[in-house]
Amino acid sequence: MTATSIDLINPADETLIRSIEHTSVEEVDEAVARAVAAQKRWAALAPAERASTLRAFAAVVDGAVEELARLEVLNSGHPISQARWEAGHVRDVLTYYSAAPERMLGSQIPVAGGIDVTFLEPLGVVGVIVPWNFPMTIAAWGFAPALAAGNAVLLKPAEWTPLTALRLGDLALAAGLPEGLLQVLPGRGDVVGERLVSHPLVRKIVFTGSTATGKRVMAGCAANVKAVTLELGGKSANVVFADADLEKAAAMAPSAVFENAGQDCCARSRILVERSAVNRFLELLEPAVKKVMVGAPGDEATEMGPLVSAAQFAKVASYVPDDRQVAFRGSAPDGPGFWFAPTVLLPGSRDDRVARDEIFGPVVSVLPFDDEADAIALANDSDYGLSGSIWTRDLGRGIRVSRGIESGNLSVNSNSSVRYSTPFGGFKQSGLGRELGPDAAAAFTEIKNVFLSDAP
Ligand code: NDP
Repeated sequence: MTATSIDLINPADETLIRSIEHTSVEEVDEAVARAVAAQKRWAALAPAERASTLRAFAAVVDGAVEELARLEVLNSGHPISQARWEAGHVRDVLTYYSAAPERMLGSQIPVAGGIDVTFLEPLGVVGVIVPWNFPMTIAAWGFAPALAAGNAVLLKPAEWTPLTALRLGDLALAAGLPEGLLQVLPGRGDVVGERLVSHPLVRKIVFTGSTATGKRVMAGCAANVKAVTLELGGKSANVVFADADLEKAAAMAPSAVFENAGQDCCARSRILVERSAVNRFLELLEPAVKKVMVGAPGDEATEMGPLVSAAQFAKVASYVPDDRQVAFRGSAPDGPGFWFAPTVLLPGSRDDRVARDEIFGPVVSVLPFDDEADAIALANDSDYGLSGSIWTRDLGRGIRVSRGIESGNLSVNSNSSVRYSTPFGGFKQSGLGRELGPDAAAAFTEIKNVFLSDAP
């Protein structure tokens, strides 16, 4: 490793994968210039041609699902079954937005004295800054709708996990995307990320990551009045009422928080249980947690891999010091590798930091509540509002509680958070704006209104 490179470490065994050169500020500026030129050519193509190029990109990704999945296993420690889903999701997101170039309709508004038309114009060059927890999928949530709307994209992967993003850049070229339209710029957040934020010709930033960094990015965008979408942290609630199917709620609670080793902004890392059902729920939860298969990410049966890095391991471990009482935990391999066993805590207070902070590891807090109003108040007692679940057999209660919780994505009797066809994003300090769904491509456009006079 040098000042301008980073050694990528396999999180499952701590071996060196390879070293990656960092992009410099000067190289970012050159990439912006190439992107400006490529975007003009791309936006000038017929919509049908842009659509077919994106479909070709999706087809090339489809042919590379296994290769991309294996790269994510190596670089991020994701279980192979999950990594295959992620690569397939990239293909599906591209396919979904490949329809957009021909369906971004603008409007015609009735006025006196002529015709009034609104156009959805591309922004130009967009910067997409992604974190290390889902390197492929979060990248695609940014670049697919941005490209569909006629923009060029500069993609900055997280320092630790650039391999799938770099490969997607190659696949874009192989699929026939114009040179310079989707460029991948590996490097440091405080160099590449900050330059994308400050560059006047980068017209929008899509950022996913921590709330602290998101605030810096937003402040940087303000300096240029630059558009910004933020997908930030979470401390989502899994609310279990006593009338729920407790067996099902307990069986599904582990995957709602331990998937991706808890490194998931949607992780339901607070399980809120109606007081009368707490003991029964914990009896059911314990075997479910203990049977989570934690092990080599390349094994087909593995459900949870290691944490991404030594730094993330240290952060998660700091929440569970030796003197912290643990209710129960699952198993994990011994080192080498950044292994952390699924861990269940019973904090004595709602203000315990394990019940408030985004730990971003396989650690969940179980907290009791008294009634429906208390459940809503406790779920909302957080700076975040990204995701969450409600378990009840009472449909009316499901409706009332889902309307009462301040969160962007909720599911009743389900763990569901993300579908490419539905909007995703957070309330409060979980973010700003929405990704995915039918409106995401339009979020990468400016509205232009033109009046055409009918005067002779
Ligand atoms: P960051 O939010 O710092 O990183 C996310 C992305 O932003 C990375 O690509 C990073 O680059 C980049 N970045 C960092 N600093 C800047 C900057 N000043 N300007 C522009 N871009 C920047 O997350 P961390 O990796 O530091 O993770 C810390 C904690 O954040 C985690 O433990 C977790 O709690 C939370 N987190 C939440 C995520 C979510 O999806 N909600 C995702 C990731 C983290 P680089 O990799 O070079 O630092």
